[in-house]
Amino acid sequence: MSKTSSSPAVPTVKVSPRGSSRLKDGHVWVYRSDIVSTDGVPPGSLVTVADHRGQSLGTALYSSSSQIAVRLISRELVNDFPALLRRRIADAIAYREPLIHDTSAYRVIFSEADFLPGLIVDRYGDILSMQILTQAMDAETVRETLLSELTERLQPASIIERVDPRVRQLEELSPRPSGLLHGEKLSTIFSMNGVQFHFAALEGQKTGAFLDQRENYAAAAQYGRGEALDVFCYQGGFALHLAPRCSRVTGIDSSRPALEVADQNAALNHRDIEWIEASAFDLLKDYAHSGQRYDTIVLDPPAFAKTKRDLDAALRGYKELNLRALKMLRPGGVLVTCSCSYHVTQGDFLEMLADAARDAHRSLRLTEVRGAAKDHPALLSIPETAYLKCVIASINT
Ligand code: SAH
Repeated sequence: MSKTSSSPAVPTVKVSPRGSSRLKDGHVWVYRSDIVSTDGVPPGSLVTVADHRGQSLGTALYSSSSQIAVRLISRELVNDFPALLRRRIADAIAYREPLIHDTSAYRVIFSEADFLPGLIVDRYGDILSMQILTQAMDAETVRETLLSELTERLQPASIIERVDPRVRQLEELSPRPSGLLHGEKLSTIFSMNGVQFHFAALEGQKTGAFLDQRENYAAAAQYGRGEALDVFCYQGGFALHLAPRCSRVTGIDSSRPALEVADQNAALNHRDIEWIEASAFDLLKDYAHSGQRYDTIVLDPPAFAKTKRDLDAALRGYKELNLRALKMLRPGGVLVTCSCSYHVTQGDFLEMLADAARDAHRSLRLTEVRGAAKDHPALLSIPETAYLKCVIASINT
């Protein structure tokens, strides 16, 4: 380890012993409570991180407002940030080349998992959808580098920025609207696993679709059978993949705009799927009481545990849903159950499912225990990157 660089252009942030051991253990975040000094460090700047003795731990992006004050981007000293950004983008693109099959939509850059904390870029055919989540990534020079590198390497027809106003507020960034950063194209049709989807760049949740489920759609399609229910179906990702294998498919979501796109997607793929606008909790309760039965049920709810404090309540919520679904499945039926709360570990999730199966008097055989698609990589040293769980199980009795 070298002594802290004296480069005047890169200020230093000192972290506590707890902060430095976290970085030494392989994590890349240091919380504000573990920051010792940030004298004169401007918001969003590139900083050298030093331990309490002044030893350098690497280079990071600093946020003056987020609870995550420091996000490491390199274990080395970095003087040319734009060059590092360009190299990281090239690496992210190259990493995915052997992983991407049967899809024109995938995540090109996934923040910490691509060593570009605060940046998400998704590709939908020839449209790129970008999200900037931190002060440092929002700096004008950084934006210019990102745009020129993405344009040059991927040659998109357009690049749009999806802005989450809440994130900008938390990062104390001035408000800005979602919109085009390059080109003019705002909509397209993309395909994954042979299924086609409408994409409207400035509409929908996330950056458009739940691309992290792409490989889970294909897996679910392998096992789906009979009458299928896709609960929390959004624009129909699972339902459309199940349709070729199942005799009847119903999708439930509380969002009318999502179901309108789901219906257009069904037409695009010449599928006949029933869409129901309802609260999944209420509807499942009614269905369970009225004795409705299915052969395949998908559960893909929004994140229940947004913070660690919500964990117990979240697990109760997951259990209630899974219990209902298990009671509604016919013998031999297939459950595809997901959680995208990163506070719920795979272990927690399987334990919850075991509890639900016990209460439902069902014996479950685990067919597959899955995570996010490979274009959403998880880093072993950063548990937060392994947020998505998808369990496919069949009912024995
Ligand atoms: N399975 C989808 C993604 C689901 S995201 C896919 O693969 O694309 C979670 C969905 O739950 C969102 O579409 C949201 O509109 C819906 N939702 C949130 N609360 C709900 C509720 N109480 N009842 C039904 N749907 C709900």
